[in-house]
Amino acid sequence: MPAIILETHLGSLPLTARGKVRDIYALSADQLLFVASDRISAFDHVLGSGIPFKGKILTRLSLFWFDLLKPIVPNHLLTADTAHFPPELEPFLDQLEGRSMLVKRAKMFPVECVVRGYLSGSGWKDYQQTGSVCGIKLPAGLRESDRLPEPIFTPAAKINTGGHDENISYETVQKTIGESYADALRTLTLRIYEKATEHAASKGLILADTKFEFGLTTDKSGNDQIVLADEVLTPDSSRYWPADSYNPGRPQPSFDKQFVRDYLESIHWNKQAPAPALPKEVVFRTSEKYLEAYRSLTGRTNL
Ligand code: ATP
Ligand code: MG
Repeated sequence: MPAIILETHLGSLPLTARGKVRDIYALSADQLLFVASDRISAFDHVLGSGIPFKGKILTRLSLFWFDLLKPIVPNHLLTADTAHFPPELEPFLDQLEGRSMLVKRAKMFPVECVVRGYLSGSGWKDYQQTGSVCGIKLPAGLRESDRLPEPIFTPAAKINTGGHDENISYETVQKTIGESYADALRTLTLRIYEKATEHAASKGLILADTKFEFGLTTDKSGNDQIVLADEVLTPDSSRYWPADSYNPGRPQPSFDKQFVRDYLESIHWNKQAPAPALPKEVVFRTSEKYLEAYRSLTGRTNL
């Protein structure tokens, strides 16, 4: 088993944020270091156990997708090759190897660009209450996990206090970032989803929904450029379902976290901190699921 990294510590390098899974460091005014730890969250809490290989898998998957999506959208990646990391990171390469991305710092749009091809999670909840998701009216009589007539852009406002993101209407996005950026982000989101869905389907996976974050960087001629940022199309930011067991009319088992959720339900955890640790068996099987996602999507066996 590889060493599990729950938290990185990079000396005096300023830690910008420790999210549920990633540690983010400020390298300079225009560069950030994203490190994916092996932390896992469920029911909005980081659990007491790490998952072997998880951080490396999330990083490899983002890199795979950035590359595949390059013809559609530029991205924030500078390099994930530690040989090209700046010298001040050298003492820490054992923590960083395989799980880190040096990225261009972007001015982030305060919008989570969610796209849904299927009715699940908060989309299903909104639909039951209003018949719509983010103000988009859907046909009556849809069941949980049903495929939508066409993919829909269902943006959410970023809530930075650990709470759930809040679904918002397209008009709200227009008011927040302006009509032309709103239109650009919606178009990109739907185009990327189409491409990703096609690839996932060819590997036997349904990409039910996912979330992108975009930002603005300045290109060589000084013009603003929209880039795909954050992580992309990982199991942490997306719902993948195995196509062969797809069964609408109920929630679909989570591809990666089902063993974890089942275990937490079985011990009747009250979903308040501190979150429990996981038994070895659950850790092992979850690690296997992440590896399976990685192997299926990329066709690679080695990390
Ligand atoms: P959660 O763990 O629930 O996702 P979080 O979103 O606060 O919480 P992270 O996802 O680890 O935690 O944080 C990543 C942060 O970095 C997000 O706020 C995201 O918008 C931001 N971000 C992503 N890419 C860039 C970039 N290129 N430049 C600047 N900020 C970025
Ligand atoms: Mg995040």
